[in-house]
Amino acid sequence: MLSGRSWVLGVSVKEVGEPFFGVNPRCGSSLDPPFYSATVADGDAALEAADAAFAEFSSLPGSRRAELLEAIACELEEGCDGLLERAHEETALSLDRLASERARACHQLRLYGAEVRGEAWRGLRQESAQPARRPVPCPDLRRMCVPLGPVVVFGASNFPLAYSVVGGDVASALAVGCPVVVKAHEAHPGTSEIAARAIIRAIARLGLPQGVFALLHGPGPTVGTALVKHPLTTAVAFTGSLPAGRALWDAAAARPVPIPVFAEMGSINPIFILPGAMRARPLEIAVGLAASVNGGCGQFCTKPGLVVVHESAGFDDFLAALAGETRRAPAGIALHAGIAAAFRQRTRDWLGREGVAEVARGCGSGQAQGAEVSSVLLRTDGETFVQNRGILDQENFGPVCLVVTVKAPEEMFRVARGLGGQLTATIHKEEGDREASRELTRILMRKAGRLIQNGFPTGVEVCGAMTHGGPYPATTDSRFTSVGTAALERFLRPVTFQNFLQEDLPEPLRDGHAHSGSSVSFSSL
Ligand code: NAP
Repeated sequence: MLSGRSWVLGVSVKEVGEPFFGVNPRCGSSLDPPFYSATVADGDAALEAADAAFAEFSSLPGSRRAELLEAIACELEEGCDGLLERAHEETALSLDRLASERARACHQLRLYGAEVRGEAWRGLRQESAQPARRPVPCPDLRRMCVPLGPVVVFGASNFPLAYSVVGGDVASALAVGCPVVVKAHEAHPGTSEIAARAIIRAIARLGLPQGVFALLHGPGPTVGTALVKHPLTTAVAFTGSLPAGRALWDAAAARPVPIPVFAEMGSINPIFILPGAMRARPLEIAVGLAASVNGGCGQFCTKPGLVVVHESAGFDDFLAALAGETRRAPAGIALHAGIAAAFRQRTRDWLGREGVAEVARGCGSGQAQGAEVSSVLLRTDGETFVQNRGILDQENFGPVCLVVTVKAPEEMFRVARGLGGQLTATIHKEEGDREASRELTRILMRKAGRLIQNGFPTGVEVCGAMTHGGPYPATTDSRFTSVGTAALERFLRPVTFQNFLQEDLPEPLRDGHAHSGSSVSFSSL
């Protein structure tokens, strides 16, 4: 039974003002029950409770927080009747896709829990004292990472489970001891409430402070921005559009005390196909590319939106196969009508540019309506692409791909050098492509957080070695990842203790510390 309310300190808050509704993107109809936006007072209460819970929560042994993450995973698997069905109604994502997303969310929770059962995440470093060193003695220096404090997380529309209320950002923050206040995405308020209540039950079961988690509904520009500006907020995590991410980053930078915003935003995930690969594997690349473009209705942040190819042997077969795959791709339903409208508008804008042509379009009802979107394949040349920077190189969220043909390797390098920051960049190469591939790799290392050879960018492994980040505008901070165990680092900062007595040091920094499962207790102070 959904309450339609925000949740603070483990209980639902009073409903105030005009309601809004979840919407079924398939038909545009409203879904019961009505939901109510949080008030300023609710935001204050959530952050005051988070701040009050911080001392206890952050000083728990990592193993205790791991238990919390594991308990949330169990709740998601066994205690959330109707979760997938409600998410299916609110997002139009298939039940199979949502089931695998839930599995991914649970894997993330358990993996990040396992990470904080160990000690590596604390980043311990030590420089022993050298009192006799000349010309100046070296003090005893011991460094460890500590959690920042309350974190505000914006739920992402395109991952209602794995990057929303129970997603990677929340799991990362909770793992290291940061209480979380989630601003629910308006496109899936019911899913958000079910997931939030799973977290609240897990917190209660373990007897942890309920201030550790809160869920607030309401519009991003008002409720969300107020949370970012709140003096008790210490960091923000966001996945979504460039304008929204940038607005949040600007709001955080303009605070009297600025705070970090880890926003993961737009990316076109370019793919470069070198002549040897085009000659050797035109059909295989076309089929793999089409699947990567159309998977999830093109609504993955790693969807390849740009393919740069040398017009050499194999190209005609490649383009014909890609066009065939595009025509066969069934129409899909976007996550919400706003995404579908933005996709159609941007595709029209691109087609309105001189030198940009439509190669193929997928099946559909024939009339763009509601949130239905069909796959589109577009084509242009390198010169047109370069002259339309700022338009053709922007993310177009949906099942669309722009093929850019070039006549020489240098033209391919020029296109690559002009790109903005990306989450991923891919090179297809074979024997004979070595020199061009090396030069492209040199260029793309400065552009993207993950480089892929002879593969496709969708499908982001959640593990220790993953980087899901990249230079602006892919993210607001290229030094971090939002997927994988390194994502925990976003919510930590280093502190060095100089010449502290053993008994005054935090436990993990003391001599002979077992380096596992200890609490960060300052009880001796
Ligand atoms: P969005 O518009 O960026 O919204 C994401 C979140 O930010 C929502 O909670 C939204 O609040 C909030 N927000 C929006 N504008 C804001 C502002 N000016 N100040 C403060 N908060 C703000 O994303 P979306 O609705 O999911 O999709 C819209 C577009 O975002 C897509 O068409 C696509 O281009 C892009 N997108 C990209 C990715 C990616 O991974 N690269 C993922 C999802 C979406 P409300 O709940 O009030 O809307």
